[in-house]
Amino acid sequence: MEKLNYDVVVVGGGLAGLMTAHEVASAGFRVAVLSKVFPTRSHSACAEGGIAAYMDGNSDPSDSPEFMVYDTVKGGDYLVDQDAAEILSYKSGEIVRLLESWGALFNRQPDGRVALRYFGGQTYPRTRFVGDKTGMALLHTIYERVSGLNVDFFSEWFTLDLLVTDRRVTGVVAMEMKSMSPATFGAKAVVLATGGNGMLYQHTTNSYINTGDGYAMALRAGAALKDPEFVQFHPTALYPSDILISEAARGEGGILKNNKGERFMTKYAPMKLDLAPRDVVSRAILTEVAEGRGFPGGYVQLDLTHLGEKYIKERLALAVEAGRNFAGVDPVKEPLPVRPAQHYYMGGVDVDVSGANPDLPGLFAAGEAACVSVHGANRLGSNSLLETLVFGRETGQAVVKFLENSKEVRDAPNPEKVVDDAYSFVKRESGVHFGEVMKELRKTMWEDVGVFRDEERLKRAVSKVTELRKTAVNMYVTDRSKTYNTEFFNALELRNMLDQAVVIATTALNRTESRGAHYRLDFPKRDDKQWLKHTLAYLRGNTVEITYKPVKITKWMPEERVY
Ligand SMILES: Cc1cc2nc3c(=O)[nH]c(=O)nc-3n(C[C@H](O)[C@H](O)[C@H](O)COP(=O)(O)OP(=O)(O)OC[C@H]3O[C@@H](n4cnc5c(N)ncnc54)[C@H](O)[C@@H]3O)c2cc1C
Repeated sequence: MEKLNYDVVVVGGGLAGLMTAHEVASAGFRVAVLSKVFPTRSHSACAEGGIAAYMDGNSDPSDSPEFMVYDTVKGGDYLVDQDAAEILSYKSGEIVRLLESWGALFNRQPDGRVALRYFGGQTYPRTRFVGDKTGMALLHTIYERVSGLNVDFFSEWFTLDLLVTDRRVTGVVAMEMKSMSPATFGAKAVVLATGGNGMLYQHTTNSYINTGDGYAMALRAGAALKDPEFVQFHPTALYPSDILISEAARGEGGILKNNKGERFMTKYAPMKLDLAPRDVVSRAILTEVAEGRGFPGGYVQLDLTHLGEKYIKERLALAVEAGRNFAGVDPVKEPLPVRPAQHYYMGGVDVDVSGANPDLPGLFAAGEAACVSVHGANRLGSNSLLETLVFGRETGQAVVKFLENSKEVRDAPNPEKVVDDAYSFVKRESGVHFGEVMKELRKTMWEDVGVFRDEERLKRAVSKVTELRKTAVNMYVTDRSKTYNTEFFNALELRNMLDQAVVIATTALNRTESRGAHYRLDFPKRDDKQWLKHTLAYLRGNTVEITYKPVKITKWMPEERVY
């Protein structure tokens, strides 16, 4: 097998991976960025509504970085590590200015300052945006920047697993997708920036590539996932395609209505209304539907018509396109049909504020792959793009320090085993087709580990996913070719999805309270006495081992979360 050597391997060419690579390469180290798609096709490109930032002299006069921390902590239902939220907030303005100086063209106010809009859970408006194509603009800007540095890009390379030698990470094994040729990438540090895992759910706003490979690789290497039970469901996915209608639509004044034409959020969040955090709005929509005030098929309406054609087209162009092309509805003239769908993963590879994993020296994670934790039990909209850049940079700088003090590492003894394992997973020519297993898994996660959870459903999910993991040992793919065998890679993604699913379902069953996006019908209250703590979950064969870690509180003591 071919062997390449770098100082650092970054798995992921989205915003977090590229920001990390930028920092490490700028310090003179050799970096490889591996991505299963061309970097600018990473999921970050789909981010629409914006990036949150408090900017001195360019924010609401009553706003402050402290308010931003408070909103983030409260939005996360007090499971946020407050030292991390402080870093996020205090560095938000400078990171937006940095991207602006690199060429990102943010929308402006009439006086030329960077424009801002409201997003859910914000006391004052602080989301900065490039129309509703913010992620695309930021990703292209940073890709151009990193391309000028000494970084080797391996696009359409699928990373199979981490290499671990003497209890530390020493590289990865990956496979070129075009030729299916494997190679080892030796490195003193590996950064997982592999994004989220929306494909675990039957209904998701995520791209097909979001299969959470990094979470599974970390678990298999012996690292913990932090807070894996916390999955975000976005309230306004377009019905029936699940394409996201950005929170910007409500930030700009859109109103949710039930089948009686009522603005039902007055009941669920009398102060913040349609701009309550996502967990609150998602539950409200599904309650309206369950109580017979939804529309046939199970959706409500998002009304933008009062905003006027010019404003809608200028600020929410994607909502217009999506409505027209995927729902046959022109939002300028009639309300859009929307319902909740999986959107974001608050859980992730356990890391500290420097992006380092405490279980395995040499392992770092950033972006949606990581749980720092700045989002706690529920992420506020537009805080994720911010996290990818702020903590991508923090992680890159920490990796540089790690490399400066790092000794040479020994090669992993048997990298071929990783490739053999991958092949053995799909070597059969009959049995269960991987597509069947995938379908069952996504249905189970949606029905039993969704917005509303209870013991019965979660027990059923744990047992079903455990059974699917066993079934998967006998699965096959139909395509036997050695050129762009996408079925083969989809099956490997499924293996990764199954490893995460059992951890998510088990930890959701374990947490007997409701907090943020984790809502237990049988334990509807938050229970700080027993549960104000992070879950840490390890996967040992078929067993999920759970331990806990305290939440870092600097200033804001938990209080009732009302909106
Ligand atoms: C539709 C939508 C809109 C959103 N809008 C906003 C918004 O307006 N504001 C906001 O703050 N957040 C938003 N989010 C969330 C935000 O976009 C993401 O959380 C963020 O972009 C994640 O960035 P990332 O760099 O962590 O990962 P990604 O951009 O997802 O990149 C992951 C990278 O990992 C690579 N990868 C994964 N697995 C492998 C593997 N096995 N081998 C090799 N490479 C691999 C991929 O190829 C990719 O390059 C939105 C999310 C969605 C779904």
